[in-house]
Amino acid sequence: MISVEEARRYVLSQCRRLAPVEVPASGALGLVLAQPVRAAEDVPPFANSSMDGYALRAADVVAVPARLRVTAELMAGDDPGALVVGEGEAVRIMTGAVMPTGADAVCMVEHTRTEAEGRSVVVDEAVAPGTYVRPAGSDVATGDEVFPSGERVRAAHVSVLASLGLGHVSVYPRPRVGVVSTGDELASEPGPLAVGKIRDSNRPGLLAQLHADGFEPIDLGRAPDDADAFAEVIEQAVTACDAVLTSGGVSVGDRDMVKIVLEKLGGATARWLQVAVRPAKPFAFSTVGPGQVPVFGLPGNPVSALVSYELFARPALRLMAGHRTLGRPVIRARAGADLRRPVDGKLHLVRVTLTPGPDGTFVARPSGGQSSHQMLALAGANALVALPDGDGVAAGEDVTAWLLDPDSLGGAVAEPGPS
Ligand code: AMP
Ligand code: MG
Repeated sequence: MISVEEARRYVLSQCRRLAPVEVPASGALGLVLAQPVRAAEDVPPFANSSMDGYALRAADVVAVPARLRVTAELMAGDDPGALVVGEGEAVRIMTGAVMPTGADAVCMVEHTRTEAEGRSVVVDEAVAPGTYVRPAGSDVATGDEVFPSGERVRAAHVSVLASLGLGHVSVYPRPRVGVVSTGDELASEPGPLAVGKIRDSNRPGLLAQLHADGFEPIDLGRAPDDADAFAEVIEQAVTACDAVLTSGGVSVGDRDMVKIVLEKLGGATARWLQVAVRPAKPFAFSTVGPGQVPVFGLPGNPVSALVSYELFARPALRLMAGHRTLGRPVIRARAGADLRRPVDGKLHLVRVTLTPGPDGTFVARPSGGQSSHQMLALAGANALVALPDGDGVAAGEDVTAWLLDPDSLGGAVAEPGPS
């Protein structure tokens, strides 16, 4: 057996970042920048008011109340032209409007009273120079490096790029990942199952997980338990995909031909591994074709397939997509029940539901049956507790959890009561 870390190290050593592409900034959400982004203009482009009120000269309102003559009105979007605010004068100004020449501060409307139908204003509070003025370039200045390469684009980044007028950015593309299921027992058609057949659940599950992880899933259908047919599927797949996931056929059964085919197609890069982990022990890997496309031979048992994806494929695909962080967030939690296990030389990954305990510590409870065919417990889990070799932990002891679904933890917003 080989440790998870050692197997993963090999897989990652065989994967490379994809070649960067230019994409519209509006479509870069979730992608990783391949080049730093520099500002070619100031944001904001001009000094402007951050309040509805009066643009004035701070020196005129040192002693209050002070009465000022209102000479003009400036709305957001207006060009003040040659307008100058002189001594004893003020300009009615709205949020976002250009600061007129001569004015160095804004008094918010709440601290003023208008007189003479708006032709004069009484200012009741002194304001320091610069008050409620947003200087040009106070968010981003021309020439600034706003984002380094390696930065993952979130919605706020899209907003910054738009504010700078940047139409395109250089990013690592989403890996296109083919998914193929193997197994003569599989059926994908709706309707009753023939005796001995089961429904193909790995392919839809893996395609969905790829989508959730920001990769581009490609459905390659099913392959029979036949080495030649499977080899043909893989040879085709590597011409159109950046990576390929297969499920099934990596154990020691009579029809388990994935290992043989990957060895034939991948030569020296092929590995058939017994990983010291439960679930997801059997795993095959190879790079195939002139593009050295990584092919992940995931196990067939449904829980094992998705856990093996988590252990090996997801970090590798994140590497290809340019991400700097490859793994799931790890948090400390407390076992909410005994989590016992036999000593067997393996890392055990327990499907658990984490919930916040009264003191803020998360409590981990098994989410259901832990066999590798029991998918329901994986669907009910928001984390995997990693139990190192030993006899497990007792309720109340600390555990390490890999967080699969951060949103499920809730947090900053109070939960609504029952409706
Ligand atoms: P294998 O490694 O091919 O022997 O598969 C191990 C177990 O997983 C068997 O019980 C298979 O029937 C099951 N299995 C394999 N592929 C799938 C799939 N795509 N969907 C659901 N179960 C599968
Ligand atoms: Mg099979």
